[in-house]
Formats: sequence, structure tokens, C-alpha cells
Amino acid sequence: MTTAGVGTLAAVGLGSNLNDPVAQVSGALAALAALPDSELLVASSLYRNPPMGPQDQPDYVNAAALLRTRLTAQALLQELQALERRQGRVRERRWGPRTIDLDLLLWGDATINEPGLIVPHPGLHERPFVLYPLAEIAPGLHVPGRGRVDALAAACSAASLVKVSPAG
Ligand code: ATP
Ligand code: CA
Ligand code: CA
Repeated sequence: MTTAGVGTLAAVGLGSNLNDPVAQVSGALAALAALPDSELLVASSLYRNPPMGPQDQPDYVNAAALLRTRLTAQALLQELQALERRQGRVRERRWGPRTIDLDLLLWGDATINEPGLIVPHPGLHERPFVLYPLAEIAPGLHVPGRGRVDALAAACSAASLVKVSPAG
């Protein structure tokens, strides 16, 4: 690629708890690698974690990825939402089960506050299932207004997270 150093470093959080979550997250990572004007730099391990919010749903599988992209933040979010639809996401109750959830966690050093797009993602700084995967691939990344990813991860418990073995 000739895009090295060009574009914005974006962090994406992935989560699934329906229809073979390991395959859903792996498929979404492959789809992120194929996004236009973007390069998938690194993806974390997969982590299994109990659900947040309603407890009457299966455990989640979560991961994080770093992209370099020349898309705008809004265009990247639209691509992420298109991928969610392609993987059959249906929106029902808040924090209910889903085949795939793709959150735009960080957009360089930007703070964005628009209808439909808040960056850093509002849950990022306090969710172990987001922070630990992200700390695995980008411990020194700065979360505007909050500090380093590794320090934020260390401040919350990883007790409920189990790394999914590569064999699945
Ligand atoms: P949470 O956002 O607490 O993790 P969720 O991922 O289940 O919950 P969704 O139903 O996927 O929530 O998204 C709700 C809305 O959040 C979307 O319509 C989207 O426009 C908005 N949104 C705002 N900021 C972001 C962001 N940084 N990444 C993804 N979606 C965002
Ligand atoms: Ca989410
Ligand atoms: Ca989401």
C-alpha cells in the first residue's frame, strides 16, 4: 500500500452474541480489512464476556481493531453500520442481543459531538470488554479527556473477561 502515514488512526470496537459470535467477529474483522480508502493495521484477540445490561442473553465475544483511513468519521460510521446490516443486525431493545455491533471508539485525537456520532465513544473509558482488547493492541493510545488506554484498563476489573483461544 502507498497510504502509510496518510489518514487518521481510528479505533473500532466489535461485539457479538448471536449466530456464532466468534465467526461474526472474525467476519467483521475481515470486512474491516476490505473497507475503501482504509487499512486494517492490527486486530486484538477475541474475548468472551458476560452481557452488559439485560442478563437474559448469551455471553458476548468482543474485540478491537485499529484502522488507518482517509474516510471521514461520519463516512466510516456509515460503513460500520452497513457492515452491521450485512451481518443481519436487527435493533430491538437497548443493549439487547445482536449478531454484530461495531462502535467507532476513537478518531485520532478528535472529540466529536454530533447527532448520531459521539467520539470518543461514551462507554469506552469504563468498559473492560472494550478497554482490554484495545489495550492489547494500542496501550499508549490517548483517549481525549480521559488518558491512556492502558491506564483506563488498569482502573477497571478484567475479572469477567476470558480470552478466546485461537482455535475458537
Ligand atoms: P452503546 O453505544 O452504549 O455501546 P449500542 O452499541 O448497543 O450501545 P447502538 O444501538 O449500536 O448502541 O447505537 C445507537 C446509536 O449510537 C447509533 O444510532 C449511532 O448513530 C450512535 N452513535 C453515536 N456515537 C457512536 C459511535 N462513536 N459509534 C457507533 N455509534 C454511535
Ligand atoms: Ca456498543
Ligand atoms: Ca453500536
